[in-house]
Amino acid sequence: MENTTYEPEAMQHSMDRIIERNPHVENLLNAFRPILLEKDRLLQLMQDHKKTFTPDTIKFQGGITLIQQFQLIFSDDPWKLIALSVSRAIPQGFPALQEEMRLLEGQIETGELNCYDFFQDSSTKDDDLQLMTWAVKCSVSTAALGLFLRTVESVILSKRAADMKDILAPLTWNRGYCPVCASMPMLAVTREQGQQWLQCSRCSHEWKFARLTCPACEHAAPEDTTYLYVNGKPEEQAFVCENCQKYLITTNQAGSLQAPCPEILAISLAHLDLILQDRGYSQMAICDWNTL
Ligand SMILES: [Zn+2]
Ligand SMILES: [Zn+2]
Repeated sequence: MENTTYEPEAMQHSMDRIIERNPHVENLLNAFRPILLEKDRLLQLMQDHKKTFTPDTIKFQGGITLIQQFQLIFSDDPWKLIALSVSRAIPQGFPALQEEMRLLEGQIETGELNCYDFFQDSSTKDDDLQLMTWAVKCSVSTAALGLFLRTVESVILSKRAADMKDILAPLTWNRGYCPVCASMPMLAVTREQGQQWLQCSRCSHEWKFARLTCPACEHAAPEDTTYLYVNGKPEEQAFVCENCQKYLITTNQAGSLQAPCPEILAISLAHLDLILQDRGYSQMAICDWNTL
């Protein structure tokens, strides 16, 4: 398995190398670069504060994820530190959001905005309505608040997933959604012996999954699935399911000693999202870079 944190120099270097090879990804990758680096730095900072859980193995085998079995976020998580760091990292890549991030930063400083309260807010079951209500309260757009909150949440959930990695490794999980947070994968990475690892779009957990089964509808029929190659590059392809009309970007990293972190890989392959969505397929996980 891959490490869950990366050295900042190694991340910078892998992004620079990708841009050298594929100049068309420069703008997108550079927009997300400060966020990715900051997330990684925060995870390194939180490394020593482990929280683990003992999943009910019967429930787990039945497809009940950790987030359905346990509370995965806590009031004593470093919300303020994460929120301030994220509000400062976002405008470095998205200068248009500078004003809104500055507003949020001020509200975080005074305690007016506590992200933990947002994730604990059960006044509505409608996620869009909740985001809209909070955006009005914070005087920012839903787009800006959404990007900010998703990033903050992904730091906390990635920390939980990293802490649970060794505990989950020996347990059986054969579902297409993430065993930690129940989200859909954003990317599939093929490694040695053709093993395929799905990459969670929300908590960065990865899990092994059968290659010819669709993670979205779990339909296993090779005749209904297609691997779409782009420009004949085997390291850049997409799994396409004709049963549910969904696709998953797939990259072959077998033999690669220092594969970049999955988010870097996914963002650098976002041109495939464009092609697939243009052909009428939809992504398995909506990410900030693949909503076109
Ligand atoms: Zn997850
Ligand atoms: Zn499917």
